[in-house]
Amino acid sequence: MDRSKKVIFTSHCVLNQNTVVCPLARAKGPYRDIVQKLMEEGIGIHQLPCPEYRHLGLKRKPMTKSQYDTVEFRNLCKKIGKDAVNIMKEYLDNDYLIVGLLGIKGSPSCSLRGEKGILMEELLSIAKDNGISLNLLDVPGEYVDGKDNKEFIEDLDGFLSFHQDP
Ligand code: SF4
Repeated sequence: MDRSKKVIFTSHCVLNQNTVVCPLARAKGPYRDIVQKLMEEGIGIHQLPCPEYRHLGLKRKPMTKSQYDTVEFRNLCKKIGKDAVNIMKEYLDNDYLIVGLLGIKGSPSCSLRGEKGILMEELLSIAKDNGISLNLLDVPGEYVDGKDNKEFIEDLDGFLSFHQDP
């Protein structure tokens, strides 16, 4: 079977809410409506590591961006960002389409729109240095698995159809 040659990069918790800080999980596991949409479109999903999980583990408390903003956490995010950009380069060098990057609105690490999270600041800076420009979308705070997520799925649909096929 031919592959689609289309890949989206996502924050870790789009596919695994088990890493989210307690008590903020919005699904038992993955965000099913989002995953279903990506499956319908035949888009491969590249899941970024969760930087907060790597830094402080599962027992961490909710923290602000300024509380996370230490040299150690920035360096971790730089490392994750560099690895992700290297993977993006390999896709692009082989004529794959990166349809975009899906983050989490309001996250101190993974927010893309408005005030950016630390991981996304570092990743986007490294991407820019490598001449890579990404289409960006955040999962909004209202998104909850099992609720009516139609409005966001319509936004996602527009986001996904932004590009031409490779
Ligand atoms: S750091 Fe990012 S991937 Fe990890 S739980 Fe928060 S928003 Fe999700």
